[in-house]
Amino acid sequence: MKLVVQVKLLPTPEQAAALEATLYAVNIAARQVSRLAFEQRTFRNYDLRKHTYEQIKAAHGLAAQAAQHVIKKVADAYTALHANLRNGNLGKQGSPRRLRAESKPITFHPLAAQSYDDRCLSRQIDAQTVSIWTVRGRVKNLAFTASADQLKTLAAHRKGESDLMHRDGMWFLIATCDLPEVPLNHPGGFVGVDLGIANIATTSSTGTGTGTGTRHSGKGLNAVRHRHRELRRRLQAKKTKSAKRLLKRRRRAETRFAANTNHVIAKQIVTEAERTGQGIALEDLQGIRERVRLRKPQRVTLHSWSFHQLGSFIAYKARRAGVAVIYVDPSYTSQQCSHCGHVDKRNRPDQETFACTSCGFAEHADVNAARNIASRGVTGWAVSHAA
Ligand SMILES: [Zn+2]
Repeated sequence: MKLVVQVKLLPTPEQAAALEATLYAVNIAARQVSRLAFEQRTFRNYDLRKHTYEQIKAAHGLAAQAAQHVIKKVADAYTALHANLRNGNLGKQGSPRRLRAESKPITFHPLAAQSYDDRCLSRQIDAQTVSIWTVRGRVKNLAFTASADQLKTLAAHRKGESDLMHRDGMWFLIATCDLPEVPLNHPGGFVGVDLGIANIATTSSTGTGTGTGTRHSGKGLNAVRHRHRELRRRLQAKKTKSAKRLLKRRRRAETRFAANTNHVIAKQIVTEAERTGQGIALEDLQGIRERVRLRKPQRVTLHSWSFHQLGSFIAYKARRAGVAVIYVDPSYTSQQCSHCGHVDKRNRPDQETFACTSCGFAEHADVNAARNIASRGVTGWAVSHAA
């Protein structure tokens, strides 16, 4: 399975200047290649190389591999554009949007990412440094930060090229690693995951028999969201360029914070399932739009994106750990009694409480829902593995 490892570079001011000059140079070269491709209607990597390779190498002081990567980047961008045009993703023939895309060469941001192969980039994993080609010569002993896990993965499984990327004033290297498939463990029960707002995820498992459940609070995340919403309101009123820039930065910071929270929760859930020899039951969110339109309108606007992300992080980490994942029908999980199966809207008098009107069973509402999801996981697994 493919895994993307992103490490943050810690360049000295001088090293950072060399990296910046390099991205500027390769992207000016990319624009030049793109113009030529557009004017001569030549889009294949091989043909473009014939026409532009020597020229951009000389004009921008590019190393041989860097020039080839620039040409390939342009060729790939046109391949993607042409596929989008063919598939009608940019509108019908003659539509304004489509005409705009067709009428001029593709441009590249001055700091757009650039690919590096092993001849232009080498890593000293133990020292946590890289040596990288720049237009100002080879930069050596460029430090990077990475977790012990990332270092291990990079050392053992990295394959192919890496991308040098600049984002929000920081530098990153993105590497693709190819990990061997982990055999799936046979689940001895299921951890059910209920997604919510107050509690981002609540789990309860069939395997341990206790059914008490663990709540992963969304307090920190909701506080950050609230703070950002306030700030956003103030900035949007201003409409100046600097306010817009700040707004964009805040939005990215919020996205990163949410992603980080989701990573932590996903890791806890997968670790718990792995430790107890269970699988994980997730709500099938395909239908969440219909469900929330009826029940909880605020969910879809604010949180569906985050729910999908948490679900995909869990699925991904589970696959790496050999933990089985099953998707269950999420309807009525909050109204159904996990003890006797009775479904009634009145079983859930408020956000936090579940109290069965039939058998009297009482539990935190999210834990009750998670228990339902867990037992649907057991049933679903039995059905799909009956043969
Ligand atoms: Zn009941």
